[in-house]
Amino acid sequence: MSEINLGIIGGGQLGSMLSTAAKKLNIKTIVYSDDPDAPAQNFCNDFIFGKYEDKEKINEFISKVDVITYEFENIPFETLNEMNKLKTVLPKPSVNRLIQHRLAEKDFINKQNIRTTRYVSIEKKSDIETLEDFLPGILKTTTMGYDGKGQYPIKKIDDLKLLNIDFSKSYILEKLVKLKKEISVIITRFGNNNFEIYDPIENIHQDQILKHSKIPAEISEKILNQSKEWASTIAEELKYIGTLCVEFFIDRNENLYVNEIAPRVHNSGHLTINAYNVSQFENHIRAVCSLEKIPLSKLSNAKMVNLIGNQIEPYRQNLKLNDNEFFFDYLKKEIKEKRKMGHITTLI
Ligand code: ADP
Ligand code: MG
Repeated sequence: MSEINLGIIGGGQLGSMLSTAAKKLNIKTIVYSDDPDAPAQNFCNDFIFGKYEDKEKINEFISKVDVITYEFENIPFETLNEMNKLKTVLPKPSVNRLIQHRLAEKDFINKQNIRTTRYVSIEKKSDIETLEDFLPGILKTTTMGYDGKGQYPIKKIDDLKLLNIDFSKSYILEKLVKLKKEISVIITRFGNNNFEIYDPIENIHQDQILKHSKIPAEISEKILNQSKEWASTIAEELKYIGTLCVEFFIDRNENLYVNEIAPRVHNSGHLTINAYNVSQFENHIRAVCSLEKIPLSKLSNAKMVNLIGNQIEPYRQNLKLNDNEFFFDYLKKEIKEKRKMGHITTLI
C-alpha cells in the first residue's frame, strides 16, 4: 500500500493521540465520532460526525478508509461487525465484544488460570439475598462503565437493597481487594508470539479516576515478571492485533490480580510518548497497519499526572514548564468536573 488511510472510531484524547502518532508515520487518519465537538478533529486529517447506528455516515466512513481501529470499547458490536465485512477492523470485533462485558471478560481471564477479584453475576432482585461472601464489594454495571461510572460501593446487604437497582441492566458484584498498589502493563502484539511489551506502570486513582502514573513501578521482581507474563498470555490468547492494556491490583499480601483489560491504548501509557523510543500510540498504528516492528527501548523514567476538570486552567494560561515537563491539552471545548482535560508528563 503506498498511502494508508486509517479509520479511527471515537474522537476523544486517545483518538487525538493516535492521529498525531499516525501523522508521524505518514498515515492519513479519518476519525468517526458521535460527538460533534470531538477533540480529535483538531488532530486528524478528516472527521465524520455521525451516530453509531447511522448507516449512511458509517458507509461514507468505510469508503474512505483502508483499515479501521477504535479508541474505546463501548462501540456496538453490530457496528464493528458490519464494518469488518467491508474493511478490516483491528483489534477484531469479537475481542471487543468479549471485553466490553465485565462478566465475559472475567470468565475469559479465569479460564487462562489468571487470578481476578472474586465476582458474582447479578441479574435479578433475588440474586442479592445471599452475597455476604462478596462483601464488602463493588457493584458494577456489566457494560458501558468507565472512569468509575456505573459503580457502587457496597458494605452490607442492606446497602444493596437501598440502592434501588435498575434491573433492566445486568451487574456484577466484585469483592473489594485490600489494595496495596495498582499497576498496568501495556503490550502491542503484531502476530503470533510477536509483540513489544512496556515495563509495568504504577498508577494511583482518585475517586476511581486515574490521577498519577509512573515508571518504574515500585514492585518486586516476581510481580514484575508475573504481570508481564499474564499480559502476554492474554494478548496471545485473544490473538490480539494492536496495543492492549491490562490493569492489575496488588493486595497487601503481595497477590496479583487482573482488574480489567482495555482493548486499546490506555491513559496510563501516555508517558510512553516521552519516555520510550516508540509510544503505545505509534506501536498501535504500526501493528494495525502492518508496519515494521521496532524494538522498544526506554529513554527515561517518567511520571504523568492527569489534569481533571479545572486543573487545566493554570496550564492554559502559559504556566512556565521546565525542560523535562511536557503539557498536553486535549482541546476539549467544555471544562467539566471529573473530565480528563489534559496531562503533564515529567521525565525523571
Ligand atoms: P473502570 O472501567 O471505570 O476503569 P475499574 O473496574 O477499573 O473500572 O475500577 C476503577 C477503579 O476503582 C480501580 O482502578 C480501583 O482503584 C477501584 N476498584 C474497582 N474495583 C475494585 C475492587 N474490586 N477492589 C478494590 N478496588 C477496586
Ligand atoms: Mg479501569
